Formats: sequence, structure tokens, C-alpha cells
Amino acid sequence: MSFIKFIGTAGARFVVMKQLRASGGMWLKVGKTNLYIDPGPGALIRCLHSKPKLDPSTLDGILLTHKHLDHSSDVNVMIEAMTEGGLKRRGVLFAPGDALEEDPVVLKYLRGYLERVEILKENSDYRVGEIFFSTAKRHNHRVETYGINLMTSPHTISIITDTRFFPEIPGLYRGEILIIHVVRLKPVGEEPIDHLSIEDVKTIMRGAKPKLTILTHFGMTMIKAKPWEVASDLEKELGMRVIAASDGLQIDLEKIGSPEEWPLLSH
Ligand SMILES: [Zn+2]
Repeated sequence: MSFIKFIGTAGARFVVMKQLRASGGMWLKVGKTNLYIDPGPGALIRCLHSKPKLDPSTLDGILLTHKHLDHSSDVNVMIEAMTEGGLKRRGVLFAPGDALEEDPVVLKYLRGYLERVEILKENSDYRVGEIFFSTAKRHNHRVETYGINLMTSPHTISIITDTRFFPEIPGLYRGEILIIHVVRLKPVGEEPIDHLSIEDVKTIMRGAKPKLTILTHFGMTMIKAKPWEVASDLEKELGMRVIAASDGLQIDLEKIGSPEEWPLLSH
């Protein structure tokens, strides 16, 4: 069974620190391959407590879209769990260069436990087992950050992680399922905040025309506005399928046979 599971849906500092939503990123399974994306705070404990349990020793890889704490704080313990305490040399770590070099978030003594480390760069292709993906242009975020396009079947997936909006975004992420990290309800304007808002999401959806959009990684203004209501307003306004992820939401990539079935997904 292929699926993507939202281990946590918190984004930015306050929602993560107060754990108003769980944090911890996403678990992607395609065929027999398991990839953890952005193991933020609580990733390990949420996996072990999830129903059915997700066992980190079955992971084939871990990917960091960038090194900010809400995306990476559990990366070391997840490497240890994936490699069974380093007893089994296995797994791939994908991360931008600055997550490994200056002020690194991955401990050096753990890196030898991994089968390999692959540095994420702009516009490059990567593979782990049955999962093929590529990066796009570097995001406008304070640290080196990449969104990804997954060549999954029967539906391709794009993940737009944290960034300030830039005009090329809609053209870079054309996956049928579009996962967007939307921290802010209102536009950031001139504020020094490198995050997407709902206005940006509208622009991206109109340009990228995904078959299903999933909002996640919510900051405080999104939580207060009730993400499921924001999603339903977006649906009405744009006439496109939008859902708000909740902690533990699992999207079965095979069962979602056609867009006609997607309205069955609950908010
Ligand atoms: Zn973030």
C-alpha cells in the first residue's frame, strides 16, 4: 500500500512550541519504500504511537527540506532508529548542504551509520528504492531550502515547503496532489517573514491546477482561523478540491483512484 501520512501539521515557532498541533512532518510509503520527510519535534514518538504503528527501522531514507528546527529536530534520533542504533548500516539521508556543513543539524558520529548521504541541490533528481523525486529552484527562506516533486504513481505529488512567495512557484510544482506548507492566513506584505499565506496559495493553485491540494504546516493565524474552514472557503472560491491536513491524516495513494473519488476525503 502506498500512502502519505501527516505525522504532524504544526508549522512555525508557536504552534510547534506549544504543540497546538503535533509536529513531525510526513511519512511517505511507495510500494516497499519508506521515506520520512522533515522529522521535526516528536517525529519518533508520533511514529511509535501512531495506529497502526510506524516502525522507523523500516525506513529507507530521511529527507530534510531544510534545517530549521521544526523540520529537523528529530533527525538524529530517527537516523539512530532507522539504523537500529547503528548496528545496521542502512538508509539514505537527503539534506541541503548547509544542514550538514556550517552549524550542522546532523551529528557527525551518526553519519557513518547511513548507507549514504546525498546533498540536495537545485533542479536535481534523486532516488531511494521505489521513490523517485526531484528538487526545484532554491526557495526564498533564510536557510537552504528545497521543495520536491515526487514521481509517484498513480498520482504525482508536489510538496511546497517553507518559502516566501516567488512568481515561478506555480510552474515549478505541477504534481496532481499538491501539499503546501501554509503558515500564514494573511499576506506577509513587507514583513520579514519567509512563509506562504492563503493569498499565495490561491495564486499557486490557479497557476499549478492541482487535482487535490492539501494544506499543512499551520502557524498560529491559520490555527485560529480553523484550517478546515479555510480549506472549504478556498474550495468554494476556486472550484478546486482542497483539504486541510490534520494530525495523523493518511492519504492512501492507490485508493484515490480518480478526482471524482476525492470528495470522499473528510476534512
Ligand atoms: Zn517550517
